[in-house]
Amino acid sequence: MATNWLLSQNERMKKQGIFSWTLPAWVVRLTDEAPDGTTTVRTVNVCPSAGVCAKACYALGADSGYIRFPAARARHLRNLRMVLDTPLLWREQMAAELRHPRYQPDHAKGRLGHIRIHDAGDFFDDSYTRMWLEIMKGAPRGLTFYAYTKQVSRFRRLVETNQPANFKFVYSKGGKEDHLIDPVRDRHADVFPTLAELEAAGYSSQAASDVLAIYGPPRVGMTVNRPRKHLTASFGQLQEQQDAEAAARRTRQQAKARTRR
Ligand code: SF4
Repeated sequence: MATNWLLSQNERMKKQGIFSWTLPAWVVRLTDEAPDGTTTVRTVNVCPSAGVCAKACYALGADSGYIRFPAARARHLRNLRMVLDTPLLWREQMAAELRHPRYQPDHAKGRLGHIRIHDAGDFFDDSYTRMWLEIMKGAPRGLTFYAYTKQVSRFRRLVETNQPANFKFVYSKGGKEDHLIDPVRDRHADVFPTLAELEAAGYSSQAASDVLAIYGPPRVGMTVNRPRKHLTASFGQLQEQQDAEAAARRTRQQAKARTRR
């Protein structure tokens, strides 16, 4: 087994006995160099349903550990390149790595046997999402996978009807598809400026363990990990305001267009 692991643990996840797979957040520019020395640049949106969340994303900005630490950034970019450029090889390597004993639950060693898909990034297209479904279905017994996602319509179409028994997920607010989240039926998460605001809105903090996102109460709350000036309300509340403003603008434009006719 190679030691260049695909799955890793940051300090918080290590304490909680969880491994994770991570892509870079949001919009990424990848520079490719051809053998003749010419370069091309690809722009990839790894979080196509990101909305207001991108302004306060924990994985973006010069003060984020995901950006500040070159080794972490390089690993996330490597992961994205693998998924985009050699997807079948990536799927095989991931499936093989998951058979390593270090991922099996071992309570004496504080290992939960849980794999979080994406610290950052999301299920950015159908093909990548389907590969994860295949990986999870073929994974060794004892492992549980989980994810936060803003790809609500993709999950309704591909995952809710074909959900592996070892996969749990929580919809995450602050995205362009928030309006598709049913606040009563769907387990969902929101990010708040403070714990007091989180609790006042009726959410439960997952700070004690990230797996509370899938095992705790279905309204999952978290607070920002560092001050964010844009964050004057929760991601979900800000997205709702933004969506309402956009709808009002559209209505005004339609009314103007009608009076011109
Ligand atoms: S979807 Fe998540 S990772 Fe992507 S920009 Fe939003 S908060 Fe960041």
